[in-house]
Amino acid sequence: MSAPQVQVKRREDAPSYLQGGDLGPWGIYLEQVDRVIPYLGSLSRWAETLKRPKRALIVDVPIQLDDGSVAHFEGYRVQHNLSRGPGKGGVRFHQDVTLSEVMALSAWMSVKNAAVNVPYGGAKGGIRVDPRKLSRAELQRLTRRYTSEIGLLLGPDKDIPAPDVNTDAQIMAWMMDTYSMNQGATITGVVTGKPIQLGGSLGRREATGRGVFVVGQEAMHRLGMKMEGARVAIQGFGNVGGVAGQLFHDAGAKIVAVQDHTGTIFSDTGFDAHALAAYVAEHRGVAGFPGADVMKPEEFWSVKADVMIPAALENQITVANAHKLRAKLVLEGANGPTTPAADDILRDAGVTVVPDVIANAGGVTVSYFEWVQDFSSFFWTEEEINERLTRIMRGAFSAVWQVGEENGVSLRTAAFIVACSRILQAREQRGLYP
Ligand code: GLU
Repeated sequence: MSAPQVQVKRREDAPSYLQGGDLGPWGIYLEQVDRVIPYLGSLSRWAETLKRPKRALIVDVPIQLDDGSVAHFEGYRVQHNLSRGPGKGGVRFHQDVTLSEVMALSAWMSVKNAAVNVPYGGAKGGIRVDPRKLSRAELQRLTRRYTSEIGLLLGPDKDIPAPDVNTDAQIMAWMMDTYSMNQGATITGVVTGKPIQLGGSLGRREATGRGVFVVGQEAMHRLGMKMEGARVAIQGFGNVGGVAGQLFHDAGAKIVAVQDHTGTIFSDTGFDAHALAAYVAEHRGVAGFPGADVMKPEEFWSVKADVMIPAALENQITVANAHKLRAKLVLEGANGPTTPAADDILRDAGVTVVPDVIANAGGVTVSYFEWVQDFSSFFWTEEEINERLTRIMRGAFSAVWQVGEENGVSLRTAAFIVACSRILQAREQRGLYP
């Protein structure tokens, strides 16, 4: 599985520091904003706010490798919008991370946080590194130095990182510790997605996948699709796709195809999603799962499925493969997996896309619960967390569905209408300083 390059041409309204070539994911985000502006009424006079990240920090992250040499990595933290509260969003470790990508991901966090109405702005961070090439000690040094470098932006009331692609609870523990050592006090609320012993929340690890499942149930219900026997294809079988896959399996659906960076596997009768998740945890990928048929990577998109769940990276459903999809429903577990041109192809083909900013918002919703629990030093049961998560996800989905029906627009544009209206209302009410 690789991320196809999507060329997004120059635009006048892109910041000068991205001009001069392909705008990358930020260009995709700008196209999505264009689609919502006509629906913002008088708030559209503030729309330019959405097209400019509030601040972007680029840092050099030097570390000593185990062999004694020194390596430098590029790190970023972008705060897209802080109108509704502190910055919130994950940190991604990936060799292809770019400023444009982190900017787009930070903007999608602003939209996502507003779409589910948690009191945050949007932020995102990343390091351009392949973490699989580092030892655990090197990974720890990288995480700590990066945290120190972006430390001036962080704080429980300023900007709160969380896990994203290739980062996990251990990395959040190192981030929390580094920030706390620099402050001289243990400040658990500066990151979420921490281990339970360090102020983490029950249900956080599973929250994104659980949210994908909850909105999937809602969407299937509205589309008159049956869960029992529904055929589901999933790209990415980690924290998001793996958890969602197990919940769909338990609800009676069949997981017929799974793709990740190690391969693409197929089973017409459906996989045992629990056995597959255990296998992936041990072997770091789906390749070699006993009893599975192997598919060519490009066959994945045309597999006979009712529900397609891209839960890996961005730019996966593009003009090159959108017309091949046979699913009626796409649930975006990943951030930005569908390009705007592919969105149009899917819409014309009658495929419903539940966009990332709703479909994968379960993670940040339970991050919000974690942050609240850290502040009050009072921890909730997993049942309470899952129950509140389900309530928020269902409420957000149904509000977006209704706006989509009322305006005759896709669920993505509807989610952007709901979210951007909230962001720009806050912007207007706060007023311009000075
Ligand atoms: N990285 C996750 C996302 O893209 C979670 C962010 C968070 O919990 O702050 O939504």
